[in-house]
Amino acid sequence: MRTFDKSNQLFERAMNVIPGGIPGHQSPTLLVFGQSPCFIERAEGPRFWDVDGNEYIDYMCAYGPMVIGYNEPKVEAAFRAQSQKTDTGNLPSERYVELAERLVEIIPIADWSIFGKNGSDVTSYALRVARAQTGRSKIIMAEGSYHGIGAWCISFDTGIMPGERADILTFEYNDTEGFKRLVEENKDDVAGVIITPFRHDAFHDSEMPAPGFHETIRKTCDDIGAIFIVDDVRAGFRMHMGGSLEQFGVRPDLICFSKALGNGHPISACVGRNALKDAASQVFFTGSFFTSAAPMAAALATLEEMEANDSIKIMYERGEMLKDGMLDQADTHQQEVSYTGPETLPFMTFKSEDGWERAKLFCQECYQRGVFFHPFHNWFISAAHTEEDIKKTLEVTDAAFKLVKEQMG
Ligand code: PMP
Repeated sequence: MRTFDKSNQLFERAMNVIPGGIPGHQSPTLLVFGQSPCFIERAEGPRFWDVDGNEYIDYMCAYGPMVIGYNEPKVEAAFRAQSQKTDTGNLPSERYVELAERLVEIIPIADWSIFGKNGSDVTSYALRVARAQTGRSKIIMAEGSYHGIGAWCISFDTGIMPGERADILTFEYNDTEGFKRLVEENKDDVAGVIITPFRHDAFHDSEMPAPGFHETIRKTCDDIGAIFIVDDVRAGFRMHMGGSLEQFGVRPDLICFSKALGNGHPISACVGRNALKDAASQVFFTGSFFTSAAPMAAALATLEEMEANDSIKIMYERGEMLKDGMLDQADTHQQEVSYTGPETLPFMTFKSEDGWERAKLFCQECYQRGVFFHPFHNWFISAAHTEEDIKKTLEVTDAAFKLVKEQMG
């Protein structure tokens, strides 16, 4: 029986000196509290080891940043080589220009790119660009979508005043008619629409875009002169190298990336069309670490590796293998599940009313047997997961389904 003693002790220490212990999405209270790891010791390829020495095949991939394996040799070599020369400095390095040029090359809509550290930096920046370009105030987003910790979008109220969200209008993801109505009521005031490539809200089955959904947003934005922003922070570089909407043949005006861009190194980017370049240059956007060179070297190496190895194709293949295997097992163990999202960012929920209890028991058993899933948040496949890893994972999930069936019927 695996234990999490050191993790739990460290969490108690954290609670003494850090508000909330581990605030936000990594809080152990969002896993199977007490029966899941809270702290990590090291990671390699598709695996990590917690502070109690337990090993896991990882399907959370740092919640997205790890895309071609932890500690990937070429990425880490590029990062180290650059750090030895300069990282955070008085001026940007050559990597800064190279990375912008690379993104402009890879991403069809991109004529320019600007860099930050976190996804929240660039989603908030994109809103300002839309407002600067149009001179309008209102932004349309899907209710419950996560775009970062900006007051304008966060769905938690503490410390946030209603005025901070005053110009944000929401509709239900995939409700094309609701979207059109909202636009009709506000059309002279809408600066932009921000949307994720598919619905991937936590505590919710994922939903692929309904046919015509992104097309409607594109056409509506064109009709009313608003800016179409895609928040590709989570899905970026896991669906298409050119931005996830390329998969659906729709092209937005601005795309926000972060997570996978640097294979774990802190970097984000907002890319956009030429028509927005003037407005983009007027928006004040800076940060002490925004031009740090080493994460940019890591991002360049990540993109190179992904292109050279067709990493997205590998992820889709592995993701499909996991999906087929798990759906078969769910059937065998008579569990009704929803397996949703693209194969590269899948999510599985149990359909019964006690769904989260089942999901927690399922995950708890997986932690015991060395596989790391999340009960409430979509999962991530990486190009470092081998067929052998998926096979091993499926042995574990089979045992986990069996246990859920035995204990919960
Ligand atoms: N947008 C999306 C779709 C995200 O998933 C996230 C992070 N989970 C963010 C924005 C914010 O990114 P960050 O946490 O790096 O600020």
